[in-house]
Amino acid sequence: MLHHGRDVVREEHGDRGAALTLHQRRGRQAEDARRLDDTEAPDRDRRIPLIRRLCGLVCATVASLQPSEPLKRANPTGNFGAWSTCGAHRARAASGASKGRTPECQQGGVPELPEVRALAERVGAALGGSSLGAVAVPGFSGLKTVAPRPQDLVGSTLERSTSRGKFLVLDFGAPGRALIHLGNSGRLDLEDPAKATRPRGSLVRFAFETRALLVREHGRERRAGLWVLGPGEEGPLETLGPEPFERSFAELVRHGADRRHLHTMLRDQHTVAGIGRGYADDVLHRARLSPFASLSGLDDDARERLLAGVLEVLSEALGRERQRTGGLSEPSLGDRFMIHRRAGTPCPRCGGLLERVSYSSNEIVYCPACQTQGKVLADRRLSRLLR
Ligand SMILES: [Zn+2]
Repeated sequence: MLHHGRDVVREEHGDRGAALTLHQRRGRQAEDARRLDDTEAPDRDRRIPLIRRLCGLVCATVASLQPSEPLKRANPTGNFGAWSTCGAHRARAASGASKGRTPECQQGGVPELPEVRALAERVGAALGGSSLGAVAVPGFSGLKTVAPRPQDLVGSTLERSTSRGKFLVLDFGAPGRALIHLGNSGRLDLEDPAKATRPRGSLVRFAFETRALLVREHGRERRAGLWVLGPGEEGPLETLGPEPFERSFAELVRHGADRRHLHTMLRDQHTVAGIGRGYADDVLHRARLSPFASLSGLDDDARERLLAGVLEVLSEALGRERQRTGGLSEPSLGDRFMIHRRAGTPCPRCGGLLERVSYSSNEIVYCPACQTQGKVLADRRLSRLLR
């Protein structure tokens, strides 16, 4: 643990190899947890001496056991082990198979395509055709654009409410569009009637004739975003890949030569828009494919399984989300995944135990029997100790 008389650990992030203090490392892990669309830590540098890998393991383990500040503040009992809003985590704890808790789990996860699309439909049903009376942006740091101003939309009518990837798109016609990304802990309330209060973490309230739409964030995270786009502007939508249900995505899966891990590829919003960690786990389980396989190595049958897995899992999830009513207000969005966050519980297909590969702020869950020919993949925290 101690190098040169200080608690310095070597950050095992590929070639960067920057030396970080323990304090800095924890800060980095917290930052990882805050990213909207998490990216996996690059493969570790295998040349790093064993002693430093051991230090990394100990420090990562210690850091992972520290409850986050929002969790401390939210838990009145101070009993971290017994308190969780995540049903999958409760199942995991009950099974005795894991004591892990991911920051993503604490924060409820980023709403993905099914949640956002169904939310857009509910917003359209509740507010479509209504005139916007006022806009308040108390969380102005979440406002990502300068012009047009949110107030420039006032007086116009909400013509359409749609989704693009993980973005909610409110189309006000000629004056422009408002985009909302809820991030990891952002949620949306449909107020009927509109309220005048300003809850903690409020980002924006769109007040219509009698109803309102409030975007706020749980905890202290401020990662939700609001964009106001003028006519013809695409903003962050410009670089998004196709939607999973589009023909161009099917063409990509059938003929593409992407060499990245499938789990990474599916989560890349520039490749396909709307899939995050949760549905990536579920899709690959459905398709019986390893998260670390690559598209370029798949035969035609596996490619068809992958495409069918994406379409089936997202369609089923969208069907479930359409049963939801109101906004998307809950801090935790519920047990909406079959595989994701369920390591240590039985595989719903074969009954074997689901396994995980852990990263600093998240994990990949898979079934060895169904997805990797029985091979248990190296779990980073564990393998650092064993190697
Ligand atoms: Zn299985």
